[in-house]
Amino acid sequence: MASTDTAPSKDMFETVACYQCGGEAASPFVVAEEDLTGKPGRFQFVQCDACGLAYQNPRLRLENIGAYYDDEYIAHRKRTDWGVLTPLYQWAMEKHDRDKLALCEGYVSLGAGSRVLDIGCGAGTFLDRVRQASGASVTGVDFKDLSHLPWMRNIDFRLGLFYEQDFGQDHFDLITMWHFLEHDYDPLRTLRCARGLLAPGGRLVVEVPRLDSVSFRLYGNRWPGLQAPQHTALYSKASLLEMMAKAGLEVVEHLPYGAFPPYFYLFAGAAFKLLKGRGLDLSRVIHVYFLGQALLSPVLLFERRLNLAMQTVVCKVP
Ligand SMILES: [Zn+2]
Repeated sequence: MASTDTAPSKDMFETVACYQCGGEAASPFVVAEEDLTGKPGRFQFVQCDACGLAYQNPRLRLENIGAYYDDEYIAHRKRTDWGVLTPLYQWAMEKHDRDKLALCEGYVSLGAGSRVLDIGCGAGTFLDRVRQASGASVTGVDFKDLSHLPWMRNIDFRLGLFYEQDFGQDHFDLITMWHFLEHDYDPLRTLRCARGLLAPGGRLVVEVPRLDSVSFRLYGNRWPGLQAPQHTALYSKASLLEMMAKAGLEVVEHLPYGAFPPYFYLFAGAAFKLLKGRGLDLSRVIHVYFLGQALLSPVLLFERRLNLAMQTVVCKVP
């Protein structure tokens, strides 16, 4: 696997046309760094002259991006020892999964006969919660193999790219993509493939960072939603809706929030501004993180109305 200790060389990149319209004419949008871990490199986002989608171009070739999803990226999800703050951290993680499930339950009722597919399932904790809460059969896809985690044995886990999986005759009552689409190398193909896997009455729930949000306006080139080089595209509300329509999906509802806590973006963006690409070691500032959250809690009560950072679309087959 390629090293990420040095900035990626030119031959590790490829140019790409607009994911939404195929257009090749684009204008510079923003240059980003790997602010989260502080790995070297500068990554260019452009904006399509034809449809307005912002996307990373050139992008790292698929075989070179894996190194950026290494242990440091995954470690935060697996880490269990946060000292005296361990219970608070665990509560926050469980709350995230609970909020995902609550969001979905507003659109689809799940029971023992239901089938749920999570694309980009990571450590699989969301699917495990779905299974425990509803008795649904759960399937997850990810190109990182975390299947050794104990609860993963309850999940039909598929390793690899989503659109290369063979699901046979299986159809799903709920398909979720939590912060997956903005990492995708072929989002339109993914969405079309997901559409084909929806059972009658099924729903697709997609959460991504929102480009036309308060946090992007605050932080610009240090916006955590850039997350270069992993994020391939940056979706405004308009471009997300356009993408769904292109994929033949009907939007049931667009929400100016998601299950992901927007406070993380508010905190990380401020830290990235201060650190200027040196990397954020969350374990060293976890006390500050939770303190800031407590101080901002009066504002965060209204987070769903403030368009802080996230957006979700709920879709069906027309
Ligand atoms: Zn375009």
